[in-house]
Amino acid sequence: MTTPVASVPLGGPALAQERRLVTAIPGPRSQELLARKAAAVAAGVGHTVPIEAVAAGGGVVVDADGNSLIDLGSGIAVTSVGNAHPKVVEAIAAQAAQFTHTCFMISPYESYVAVAEALNRITPGDHAKKSALFNSGAEAVENAIKIARKHTGKQAVVAFDHAYHGRTNLTMALTAKSMPYKSGFGPFASEVYRAPLSYPFRDGLSGPDAAAKAISVIEKQVGAENLAAVIIEPIQGEGGFIVPADGFLPALVEWCRANDVVFIADEVQSGFARTGAMFASELFGIVPDLVTTAKGIAGGMPLAAVTGRADIMDATHTGGLGGTYGGNPVACAAALAAIDAFEHDGLIERAQQIETILKGRLQSLASADARIGDVRGHGAMIAAEFIDPETGAPDAALAASIAKACIAEGVIVLTCGTYGNVFRFLPPLSISDALLHEGLDVVVAALAAA
Ligand SMILES: *Cc1c(COP(=O)(O)O)cnc(C)c1O
Repeated sequence: MTTPVASVPLGGPALAQERRLVTAIPGPRSQELLARKAAAVAAGVGHTVPIEAVAAGGGVVVDADGNSLIDLGSGIAVTSVGNAHPKVVEAIAAQAAQFTHTCFMISPYESYVAVAEALNRITPGDHAKKSALFNSGAEAVENAIKIARKHTGKQAVVAFDHAYHGRTNLTMALTAKSMPYKSGFGPFASEVYRAPLSYPFRDGLSGPDAAAKAISVIEKQVGAENLAAVIIEPIQGEGGFIVPADGFLPALVEWCRANDVVFIADEVQSGFARTGAMFASELFGIVPDLVTTAKGIAGGMPLAAVTGRADIMDATHTGGLGGTYGGNPVACAAALAAIDAFEHDGLIERAQQIETILKGRLQSLASADARIGDVRGHGAMIAAEFIDPETGAPDAALAASIAKACIAEGVIVLTCGTYGNVFRFLPPLSISDALLHEGLDVVVAALAAA
């Protein structure tokens, strides 16, 4: 049952793959750093796991006090190949020794082009594609909107309930949740509209019915003649790992195609083997016009991309896209190593195996505990939604108290969702079955005690 996949390299420094608590969390060294952080770092930059990280790899994060925590978060779906993956580390070191920057807009280099070629090849659809590289997911989303506006000559953009697209001005406007992402930071970018999402656990609608509802809102409140793009996370990340009902996404794509509207899949969180497919769009049988990627793309180095139909990507005048650091050579070298691992080290299959373990355990837990209202997700992107069993209302306090208990016991877990009541599991694909089970044992115990 707990056979590890031999082809998945552990990655990282030679760290014992174990949960080990030698102090309370946070220990004294971590507390010292947190005190310095409080004095030196802006209060708005929070943290959820109060440790000083000093090493990470495989399925653990080690802190300055010698504690070894099981990692069920991957730094928010970033270290999917494993932290400090040996191939990624080697590629970074080799590139850094050659040159660290020229600015691709000044003097191009091969690795940027190779990343573009790889993305054009592995993103959904076999049509002609082109890519452009940036630094962060938010920047990729901003640029996808710029490109869609230029291509269509239209301005409006539709995003969805519970959406998360980033923290810059335009992406705050696209993001649904006010606290903590938007509150007090307005005014926000104009010409952004919101449509209802398919949320099977809460709306009870079929995919086609939910799509009809969304399309009606779009037609009545925006109008296809004004609409440049529809942007959606095929499986929402921060919004609660909401998986739309079958048929919802294909109906939206079809409507976009018929109305000269660019369909943008924001796969910043769901991309790169995370969902047991290279991209989550594949799970729903859709081919987006543009795909935004970041997070898992480069094993932890800051890199992001927009990839899509060549005619759309080429709509922008020369010089209209770019940035000082976008497609930095060190980040590109890391991405090429990470993409090689996604393609050749069995990581898609590994994500599917992780799904079997996570869903199996969480579903049996849910069938015995009415406080878990829903278990959903794909691959190594699985969530449990906590509710009040009497009313079905979201129970954020329960999710928060279990998360706190897990962290105290040496398991890094993350919550999400508009109501903060969703527990999300995003382990690195390099985690062993044994560690994953042990992490789940801790979650189960914390729920029983809550
Ligand atoms: C994290 C995220 C972003 C923003 O990415 P950053 O790199 O933090 O700017 C955008 N979209 C989705 C779906 C995300 O999960």
